Amino acid sequence: MASWNLSSSQRAKDTINPIRETVATILLPTDFHLPTYSLALGDPSVFPDFAVNPIFTRIAQENLLSGTGNGYCLAAGPRPAREALARQFSYENIQLSWEDVILDIGGSGAIHTAMQVFLNPGDNILIPAPGFPLYKCMAGNLSAEARLYSLRPDHGWEIDFNDLDRLVDERTKLLVIINPSNPCGSVFTKEHLLEILDWAERHKICILADEVYTGMSYGKPHIPIGSLTDEVPVFTIGAMSKMYLVPGWRCGWLIVYDKHNKCAEFRDAILKVKNMLLHPAPFIANSIPAIIEQTPENYMSEVMQKVKERAELVYQKIQETPGLSMQMPEGALYCMISIDLEAFEDFGNSIIFAEKLAREQGVLVLPGESFMSHRAFRVVLCQSRAVLEECMDRIKNFAAAHHKK
Ligand SMILES: *Cc1c(COP(=O)(O)O)cnc(C)c1O
Repeated sequence: MASWNLSSSQRAKDTINPIRETVATILLPTDFHLPTYSLALGDPSVFPDFAVNPIFTRIAQENLLSGTGNGYCLAAGPRPAREALARQFSYENIQLSWEDVILDIGGSGAIHTAMQVFLNPGDNILIPAPGFPLYKCMAGNLSAEARLYSLRPDHGWEIDFNDLDRLVDERTKLLVIINPSNPCGSVFTKEHLLEILDWAERHKICILADEVYTGMSYGKPHIPIGSLTDEVPVFTIGAMSKMYLVPGWRCGWLIVYDKHNKCAEFRDAILKVKNMLLHPAPFIANSIPAIIEQTPENYMSEVMQKVKERAELVYQKIQETPGLSMQMPEGALYCMISIDLEAFEDFGNSIIFAEKLAREQGVLVLPGESFMSHRAFRVVLCQSRAVLEECMDRIKNFAAAHHKK
């Protein structure tokens, strides 16, 4: 008698998201004596102060109603949207053509496409820790290895080049940078970006630049790394998700900065891969030119002003909190707070810290382990200021109660 073989594929088993692995056990209590709050959720659209601008939804609605987006389009996305993005993301050193822009299913889709065209089983990529966990998850999915390089919390979360030197080998295919950073909230200086390019040029490793928070800074300005090189091929990830605060629209892109056309084979490969899952929803993609054109001039600075006020509030509270420290973030929607574990009685790691914080104070944060890091936790800077202040007071009380006397 035949029997059912109902075990899932090795590929699925190898697809592990560190967030799911680490936070499954951390829950807010359901019977807490006060309201409970989450500072964990990285979706700005659910917070009233970060609701989508109605200009963007009107444009998408008009596109849907026009009936022009009901069919398939080019696998890498409709040309007008790609032209508009090529114009927006061309720099003095490099003029993009529409074919340098590939639309994809969210920034995540664009990351997956890039990784698929670069990685054979057994290859590796270098990714930042703390960093965005999806890279590790997708590397596992592709039977490749994600090697973690450290960022330096006391030096603006800059890259530790000694670590890169230690990790790189002949199977290294990509150096991933995330700037502005989720989860660190850091923004790299021009000098640091030039050092990164210098390293990549010396080792002949292409850069995968996650810039889904492009332009989203309130400290120093964000400089796209593609604007600083003629020699190092840069594959830049962007998305509507964070720039326009609509992660549910699932529309992102991959931009190829490759002035001397060294990457012709990758360009072909990208189109092959795109023929599998195709483009994001055309009525969304078709909205891009009008959205770029009609975005109010002060749109981004107003969004970032709200983030800045929250960052300052958190920073202020942390200065008064024993055993915790942070540097003032400068961009994206987050900050990372370092935990001096030895200063506390009973925190073996930041998962335990986050579990106890949820249980005792009704505040949920994501531990560093969710971002392949330790001794830290991430705070999302999108809650209302009143809620954030309440949460930071509870965190302060929590730290004071567990601090070694
Ligand atoms: C949100 C995010 C993404 C993915 O964005 P989607 O468009 O929602 O897929 C990629 N990288 C970083 C660093 C992010 O924070």
